[in-house]
Amino acid sequence: MYSSPVYRPPSEARSLIIQITEGCSHNDCTFCGMYKGKQFRIRNDEEVMAHIEYIKRYDPNPRKIFIADGDFLCLATDKILHYLEIVKSNFPNAERISCYSGPKDLLRKTPEDLKIIREAGLAMLYMGVESGNDEILRRIKKGVNGNQMIEAGRKAIDAGFTFSCMIISGIGSNELSKEHALDSARVISAINPNYFALLTLNIDEGTELAADVRSGKFKLMTPDEIMDETYLMLESMDLEDCIFRSNHVSNYVNLSGVLNKDKESMLEDIRNAMKAKNYTPEHFRRL
Ligand code: SF4
Repeated sequence: MYSSPVYRPPSEARSLIIQITEGCSHNDCTFCGMYKGKQFRIRNDEEVMAHIEYIKRYDPNPRKIFIADGDFLCLATDKILHYLEIVKSNFPNAERISCYSGPKDLLRKTPEDLKIIREAGLAMLYMGVESGNDEILRRIKKGVNGNQMIEAGRKAIDAGFTFSCMIISGIGSNELSKEHALDSARVISAINPNYFALLTLNIDEGTELAADVRSGKFKLMTPDEIMDETYLMLESMDLEDCIFRSNHVSNYVNLSGVLNKDKESMLEDIRNAMKAKNYTPEHFRRL
C-alpha cells in the first residue's frame, strides 16, 4: 500500500509514514533521484483511507507521523486541512505530524494560511536548502535563489513551525566551494532554523548530475576539500540555539552539537579529523 520508493528524514526513522501524495511536484533538481521514477499525484480520499486502514494494522498508535512523499505542502490549504483532519481522527494520540516543504510551496502560501495549517496540527517542516549560493541554486535547478530560501524559511518559523534545514557539502564543486560555504552560512544564519543538517554530496545514478560527473563537467571534491568547505561554513555561521547534525551516512566526519554554543569544539573536531584522515570510507557513503 506504499508506492515505492518511500523517503523520510533520518530523524523520522520511528515515525509512521502516511503517503498522501506520490512523488515531488518540482522533481527537477539535478542531483536528486528520489522521485525520478514517479509521476507526481495526490491520492484521493478513498486511497488515503484504504492506506490508513492498512498501515493501522502495523502501527495503530504512533507517537510521530511523517506525511510523504516529497511535498504535501504544495496542496491547496483546504486540502491540507482536510487530510490533516483525517490523519488526526485516525491517530488521535500522535504527538507530532511533519512533512517535507519545498521553498516554492512556502512562498506561495500566505502567512495566514501557514498559521492555520500549523494550528491544524502540522508541527514540523523539513526544507532542503542545498546551498545558499544563487549560481549553485540555478545550476542544480532548485527553482529559487538564496534570498527566497530565507523568505520561505522565515515564513515557516514565523507561522510557528519547528523548522529543519539541510545543506549539501560539495554541491558547488571546487569551483564554487568558497561561495557555497559563505552563502550557505549567510542563508542558514538568516533563517536560524531549529535544526540544521549538513549532508555530503553522493552521486545518485540516473540523475543529470551523475551524467555531468561522468562527462567531466562536474568534478567531485575530495574529503579534505569537503572538510575545508565545512570548516569555513561552520566558522561563518551565526546561529542561536540551533541543533546541528552532520552525522548522516553521506558524511566523511560525524559532527553534532548546538550552534553557536558548540562551534569551537566542532571546528576542533574537523581539524583533528583532517590531521588523522579518519574519514568514512567511500563505499559506506550514501545520500
Ligand atoms: S531535492 Fe526535493 S524538491 Fe528537488 S527534486 Fe528532490 S524531492 Fe523534489
